[in-house]
Amino acid sequence: MSADAEAAPVVLSAGAATDVGTTREHNEDSFLCESPLFLVADGMGGYAAGEVASALVLEEFRAFAGAGSVTVAQMKEAFATAAVKIAALAGDRSGAGTTLSGVGLTVLGGVGYWAVINVGDSRTYRLSGDGLEQISVDHSVVQELVEAGTLTASEARVDRRRNVVTRAIGAGTHSEPDFWLVPIERGDRMVVCSDGLSGEVEDARIADLLRSEPTAQAAAERLVHEALLRGARDNVTVVVVNAEHVAPHGADDVDGDTVPRADADTNANQGSPA
Ligand code: MN
Repeated sequence: MSADAEAAPVVLSAGAATDVGTTREHNEDSFLCESPLFLVADGMGGYAAGEVASALVLEEFRAFAGAGSVTVAQMKEAFATAAVKIAALAGDRSGAGTTLSGVGLTVLGGVGYWAVINVGDSRTYRLSGDGLEQISVDHSVVQELVEAGTLTASEARVDRRRNVVTRAIGAGTHSEPDFWLVPIERGDRMVVCSDGLSGEVEDARIADLLRSEPTAQAAAERLVHEALLRGARDNVTVVVVNAEHVAPHGADDVDGDTVPRADADTNANQGSPA
């Protein structure tokens, strides 16, 4: 088996839900929920351009559906190809753009990792024994103001600039994605969402609802429902991924004689989080 299709030492389950919300005419969000990739894209641009852009970026990633795992290099390549295709959209669709956030299941040295990718203000969260943590960092005006100390996180939630993204794929912006590699722990629950969830439902409530819905599909549906209860002024999309089983790793380390796997070197060029 090649390194590109290395069997993952984890078993995942996943579910997804989306809704146009209460005020928008079109749902410009798209999602991909087919192992090894779990992604949400939030399109922007008039004349249906947003949904074209969000669907187009995910189409590039769909090529890996059914593979045992995906490498960060493959994710970077799919992203770059999608960026070129979106930039080439013409006519009414020129200027279309989309966010992209989510996880790929990647394997390094026999250990499974969440490869988190993000550009824009969709989000990837991880619920673990340590609680709910936002892994991705928004590319948005209000995030920059929070980092500068100008706004608090709660002020950012209601600031009128909260929907202004500073990075996207297309839309004439800088489109380099950020990556994070997080070792998969048994019981991890990843939440990938558009700002239609995070803009309506605060993190503590997201965590509570996740804990109340153990299955991934029920959790995704419950979170979308909660956004609708809060008014859902934007399209809302949620993908939930559960790490149901994780093969013990590090067990060979106990006596200190671990032998590196031959394919570890093949994966070494994936580098660390950018
Ligand atoms: Mn949105």
